[in-house]
Amino acid sequence: MHVDLAVQYSERAPVPGELEVRIVPLAVRLGKALGLFFGLGGLGAVMVFLPGLHLCGVVLVLLATPLVSWFTWQRAVFTVGEQTVACPKCQAPVRVPANTVGWPVRFLCEPCGTNLTANPPKATPG
Ligand SMILES: [Zn+2]
Repeated sequence: MHVDLAVQYSERAPVPGELEVRIVPLAVRLGKALGLFFGLGGLGAVMVFLPGLHLCGVVLVLLATPLVSWFTWQRAVFTVGEQTVACPKCQAPVRVPANTVGWPVRFLCEPCGTNLTANPPKATPG
């Protein structure tokens, strides 16, 4: 997939790059989100019977369960496999860590110590 490689927090224009991106199947995303939803929900159900935890714990679990499930669903759209790209600042080969999820993909160029980000290119109008 074509990406815009940029130095994090830099005003420099991003450099076009290429990242191998694996789309996570819908069933896997749904399974993760539902697993978290029912796992945390079960934890909340257990907390109802625990003295000292049931007041705050149940409320926290009730608030956190839908949020955590939703963000897991939103975030796990793709994964990036381990690969090497050229740093836009120093041109050194940079290893992208395996199983990175969510945009922007963030990784470190160790030779120059620069934090890099990769985003899909913005669609051009028209
Ligand atoms: Zn670099």
